Amino acid sequence: MADGRVRMLIDGEWVSAEAGGWITVDDPATEDIIGHVPAGGAADIDRAVTAAAAAFRDWRWCPADERAALLHRAADKTSEHWDVLLELLTREQGKPRPEQEEELEWSASPLRYYAELGRNNRGRVIPSGEPRTQLNLVLKEPYGVFGLIVPWNYPLLLLSWKLAPALAAGNAVVIKPSEYTSLITLEWIRRCFDHFPPGVVNVVTGTGPDAGEALVRHPDVRGVAMTGSVETGQRIAAVAAPMMKHLHLELGGKDAFVVAPDAAPASAVDALAYAALINTGQVCTSSERVYVPAHLRDGIAEGLREKLEGLRLGHGLDDSTDLGPLRAERFRTKVERHVADAVERGAKVVVGGARPQVPGRGYFYLPTVLVDVDHDMVIMNEETFGPTIPIMAYEDIGDAIDWVNGNAMGLGATLRSTEPATIKRFFEEVKVGTVWINDPLTDNLAGPFGGMRMTGGGRELGEEGLEAFSETKHVHWDFSDAPKDWWYPY
Ligand code: NAD
Repeated sequence: MADGRVRMLIDGEWVSAEAGGWITVDDPATEDIIGHVPAGGAADIDRAVTAAAAAFRDWRWCPADERAALLHRAADKTSEHWDVLLELLTREQGKPRPEQEEELEWSASPLRYYAELGRNNRGRVIPSGEPRTQLNLVLKEPYGVFGLIVPWNYPLLLLSWKLAPALAAGNAVVIKPSEYTSLITLEWIRRCFDHFPPGVVNVVTGTGPDAGEALVRHPDVRGVAMTGSVETGQRIAAVAAPMMKHLHLELGGKDAFVVAPDAAPASAVDALAYAALINTGQVCTSSERVYVPAHLRDGIAEGLREKLEGLRLGHGLDDSTDLGPLRAERFRTKVERHVADAVERGAKVVVGGARPQVPGRGYFYLPTVLVDVDHDMVIMNEETFGPTIPIMAYEDIGDAIDWVNGNAMGLGATLRSTEPATIKRFFEEVKVGTVWINDPLTDNLAGPFGGMRMTGGGRELGEEGLEAFSETKHVHWDFSDAPKDWWYPY
């Protein structure tokens, strides 16, 4: 829109919030204001859910191959509008362009994957007690209206992991994007999903406590799929519990990166820098705590120092940028708090540990390596979500495995090793949803993604990712209406 105010989508119409307020969106690399989105609230959520419930009545009966064609078309349109989406995604979210390209690819491919998976089956036939006269069916049905609540670190990818299977399974949806990345969400939906029937896909922007919580609370929303912090997940679970809603929660992580004694230190340094710093460490599966054999510690720390000193901070649209900013000042302050606490308790800064000394704005923070850390420090326990690499030495790999499991969250873990006995022991003993051996943070559309314990237990991608948006119904069908001899009277 010419005035920088972008409307939200309810029932096929682009509208402002009923209460009239706006949320300002900035570019995290410059702090310049780049647009405004409606500050939606309960009234807007009610309109969107009502529209979705009405649209669902027909949408649920849309043939699976037609639904598939609509999803493939959305993927085609993502390619057609690639450049404009890429620029806005980079400007609003902050990570460098090559990482944004990867995000766009990874937002389009689930549309195709679930388009096909969604028309593959609707359940199964199971053996009946009387095989000649009865039929027993296990049906997979859509829930109805699903709420999709999304964070800002991968705003389109994490939306696609929900939106594609939710639609393929026959649900209508109301999307609540993050306040920080609502512009790109609206732009993607406007350009690439405009061929869906009105009301099947709705977007209500606004804050978590206003728009998000109203969506969770709405009685006609039967399921909520949400990615975000543990605190928000706990709040959503508490609000949804009295209504027994189906919840699908993908929450925070504190992933460990373990270097085994047999690992080559030089390539471990390269893998670790990638695993900890991609998206400036703002990945739920970022390596946030590192366990290395004592004899390799100094070499790895020194290798990281050399590597990190050569990385260039800048705007994501600048081709020379390796690392973008943090998404907001409050996230930078949190990183500073974690580093300060570690230093106060005896950690040593090998490199970084501060804001960059260059003039200019933006929420930048230097990539940072710390040694002499321990588990009493906040940085080894709570999610930092920033460019920090705290390294702790172990004598016995059994200790490192215990430490991996010592955190309340259980999203992922990485091991560097080529020693089969160590690898098997590691992947069997760690309590996390994804284990990466040597190749950290690589996803697979067919591989379920999610965490254990406080990370929430939801699974996206794979067959599990479609199952999450389908309810199970058992049908027992007897062809005869004759009375049974076990009915009353006995
Ligand atoms: P957040 O929890 O602050 O917000 C996530 C979404 O929830 C936003 O859309 C927000 O508006 C909404 N929300 C906030 N309060 C709400 C409420 N009371 N009711 C309903 N909705 C509410 O998280 P964030 O800062 O946007 O994202 C970062 C977090 O997401 C990190 O903790 C990260 O680990 C996690 N994350 C997890 C995964 C995963 O797959 N497990 C992936 C990416 C990010």
